[in-house]
Amino acid sequence: MLLEVKNLRTEFKLKRGIVKAVDDISFTIDKGEILAIVGESGSGKSVTSLSIMGLLQKPGRIADGEILFKSQDLNKLNKNELKKIRGNNISMIFQEPMTSLNPVWRIKDQIMESIMTHMQISKKEALARTIEMLDTVGIPSAAQRANDFPHQMSGGMRQRVMTAMALACEPELLIADEPTTALDVTIQAQILELLYKMREKFNMAVMLITHDLGVVSEAADRVIVMYCGKIVEEADVRSLFEKPLHPYTVGLMQSIPQIDDESEERLYMIKGMVPNPLNMPQGCAFSDRCDHSMERCTKEIPELKEVSGRKVRCFLYEEGGTAGK
Ligand code: ADP
Ligand code: MG
Repeated sequence: MLLEVKNLRTEFKLKRGIVKAVDDISFTIDKGEILAIVGESGSGKSVTSLSIMGLLQKPGRIADGEILFKSQDLNKLNKNELKKIRGNNISMIFQEPMTSLNPVWRIKDQIMESIMTHMQISKKEALARTIEMLDTVGIPSAAQRANDFPHQMSGGMRQRVMTAMALACEPELLIADEPTTALDVTIQAQILELLYKMREKFNMAVMLITHDLGVVSEAADRVIVMYCGKIVEEADVRSLFEKPLHPYTVGLMQSIPQIDDESEERLYMIKGMVPNPLNMPQGCAFSDRCDHSMERCTKEIPELKEVSGRKVRCFLYEEGGTAGK
């Protein structure tokens, strides 16, 4: 096991109350595994990844839990130890690459700097490696483009540069937070293809965060569905797509835009809105949007329970429930 997150709780203490952005989640990622985390905006995906990376900003804080990377609790490391792990062992790519690239540095200098911080190699070797990585991520004429500044590149190219930078140190785990959201469909597919290739080449594990189940079906081995800071369903990708169990997952599935739908409009939207995190319903957080809501759902929070080798947090699947038969 590469990463084991145990009972993680991350909170933001605001004047108006406490936002439980990540509310007691546990999951694992194996070596070489691609785990997708899906859920609508605000479900706690980014806060989960920032918690793992030790990049939470105030007033965010990890209130409880363990983040074991190869059995070492990252939450107990000091800043320098964490910095070493980031880049050497765990890398992250973000949704908007422009914000994480330095606008006044040439692409090659940024990647070389990152490589040389983490690997004991000469400048010449670092440059060769930089160009090789840019080539690997599919940047044409990599040796020339390496001299570009970020603003000289398109969004897709910048995302590739970020990806090259994240992969240059051959991380064991890549956390990719909506890496394709800002990109057009063709580039999206290429970036996903690339992550897949990297997994094959280095046995790299990927935690792939997305709100798009279409992306998941193509790339992931296993899927975690999050809603309001909690895991509501976990399954291998095939089972999930064959038979989503949680009504929320069913809703997400029905919201996948069809490939032949030129307008790319969603055929269906889950009714209602994500609740205000400072004013959560008493029972199941999804109860007021759910077509199957029962009285019990508005009073108690269901637990995440095993159902035929997968996990689901819903009373429909508990003893006496009406589904899953
Ligand atoms: P996702 O990535 O799934 O869209 P996030 O992890 O960004 O969702 O956010 C989860 C919850 O945490 C949301 O309710 C969001 O409003 C809250 N949150 C995130 N960052 C902050 C912050 N800096 N201050 C207060 N609340 C935050
Ligand atoms: Mg996010």
